[in-house]
Amino acid sequence: MFCPFCGYEETKVIDSRLAGEGQQIRRRRECLKCAERFTTFETAELVMPRVVKSDARREPFDEQKLKSSMLKALEKRPVAIESVDAAVLHICNKLRALGEREVPARMVGELVMNELRHLDEVAYVRFASVYHSFQDVDAFREEIEQLRRDQLKSDVEGSQLALWDGVSSLKPKSKR
Ligand SMILES: [Zn+2]
Repeated sequence: MFCPFCGYEETKVIDSRLAGEGQQIRRRRECLKCAERFTTFETAELVMPRVVKSDARREPFDEQKLKSSMLKALEKRPVAIESVDAAVLHICNKLRALGEREVPARMVGELVMNELRHLDEVAYVRFASVYHSFQDVDAFREEIEQLRRDQLKSDVEGSQLALWDGVSSLKPKSKR
């Protein structure tokens, strides 16, 4: 960067050290022309993309909101909070890794569903049913069928019963 005092383009680093508990690098620099000294801080850019809603509104990504919507779907389910935190972290990391400044809300929803699917089938169906706000019972049934087919493919047998127990207690919206 240019010298903030005289604008000269060459400066030398005279000292470099970790700062902010290792999250930053602090560099002491000296201008090669006017010899003024100044400090720069270097930090990894870990900015979450903004979320673009279906009506084109932009919102800042809200990790807390994401977590509480997942916790709502996981209510009374046998899933440890540590697993939920890990899932939230996965989602945040995936979003950051995209390196995009904006992502569609739909993509965030899909990442959540993907994590819930691994955590707990019932929570997945709960979330998906709200998220897709199924237009009719058929769409809901289709989602359940798909989930069941996926489960038949996997060798997890006991969880199928748990799924159907949970689903039968859910009341999908009736046809409007
Ligand atoms: Zn200078």
